[in-house]
Amino acid sequence: TPSEVKKDLLGVAERLWPSEPITLGPGASAWQLVLKKIKELSISGRQDAFMVADLDVLVSRHRTFLQALPRVQPFYAVKCNSNPWVLLVLSALGTGFDCASQGELEQVLGLGVAPSRVIFANPCKAVSHIQFAARCGMQLLTFDSEEELIKLARYHPRARLVLRIQTRDSQSTFPLHTKFGAHLEACGHLLQVARELGLAVVGASFHVGSDCHTPESYRQAIADCHSVFEMGCKAGHHMSLLDLGGGFPGVKGSEAKFEEMSRVINTALAQYFPEETGIKVIAEPGRFYAGSVCTAAVNIIAKKSSLDPGGHRKLAYYLNEGHYGVFRLFLRDSVPRIPIVVKEFPSEPPPSLLFPCTLYGPTCDAFDRLFSTEVQLPELDVGDWLIFPDMGAYSSSMSSTFNGFPISTVYDAMSPQLRSLLGTVP
Ligand code: PLP
Repeated sequence: TPSEVKKDLLGVAERLWPSEPITLGPGASAWQLVLKKIKELSISGRQDAFMVADLDVLVSRHRTFLQALPRVQPFYAVKCNSNPWVLLVLSALGTGFDCASQGELEQVLGLGVAPSRVIFANPCKAVSHIQFAARCGMQLLTFDSEEELIKLARYHPRARLVLRIQTRDSQSTFPLHTKFGAHLEACGHLLQVARELGLAVVGASFHVGSDCHTPESYRQAIADCHSVFEMGCKAGHHMSLLDLGGGFPGVKGSEAKFEEMSRVINTALAQYFPEETGIKVIAEPGRFYAGSVCTAAVNIIAKKSSLDPGGHRKLAYYLNEGHYGVFRLFLRDSVPRIPIVVKEFPSEPPPSLLFPCTLYGPTCDAFDRLFSTEVQLPELDVGDWLIFPDMGAYSSSMSSTFNGFPISTVYDAMSPQLRSLLGTVP
């Protein structure tokens, strides 16, 4: 019953409730907090890896998103970083949320977010998760197959459905087209089947692949959605929602790419879904919001030195964070990230004193390395620290305790202004 669901959600909220964030003093920055924690941990002799989440970054990312894409309402993709404070700040800023599972729905609804601000954007859902969504009064759900429609007709007949279409996303760092999205040619049939089952399809969605590099992918997908809208209307559906998915880049240096994408999207929206049509446009950005929120600090726990066949020295650093922790996705990056070294050198090490270094994680799996290629670093020692900025996306949320290594602590930090904006959290 609704009251039982409410009780369950309150239980979840209590369990997941975050401890108070660190309020940064006047003029203090999250970067200073990273250095302070390194100092404290080094003195205590427990040099555990950690992250600092600078929650004020979310405010500026939100502003940038709304300025660049004024017609698009962001529904933050919880999977990207489900830190409760990230969700609380975004909720206060007024974003919606994209959830992919019952667990994410529980987390978001448990924070007091109204079901109308949530889309269940996983096209292939477990029956029990669909039933949970129905019990909570959640209406927006995506689908991309006939089989899913049959489940939805049985377990959530009053849902408002969004048809996810396939995109050309092979240029994106993390393509999704092999797993999700209906072919354009199959959409007419799916819309007809939905109609026959008595289901309401209200819109179309797509995802151009995470960390997209090709703005044209958005243009093509928006054009395809326009065709789906025409098919939907023909089949008797009232089509009123366009969902642009995620894919927007999230790290420093990607500003120009995001601006270009926004220009392409705004032009395509004006062409295919002009404002007068009253179509609501949403997106599901994840890494755009969370990417630059977190900074990771990791410690060198072991080191090996060897010579390559040409007699040149190379080094291997073993770190207390790795592929099974916050670096899960970075093996797929074509260019490795160069960390900031925390060590006092008498002077800047000249390039000739940089060595090709392999960065390994701490577990016993040989696959556990941070990047597929070497990085150029100076000679470092056990106990030295490396700092990686832009670690907020798909890091903590993908961490595991494989081999008994703990998940890195995240220190949440925010300015007094942001803290007071949140008021007393419920
Ligand atoms: N929406 C869906 C359905 C996704 O699968 C993902 C990521 O895989 C996202 C949104 C977020 O994507 P991104 O972090 O690239 O913005």
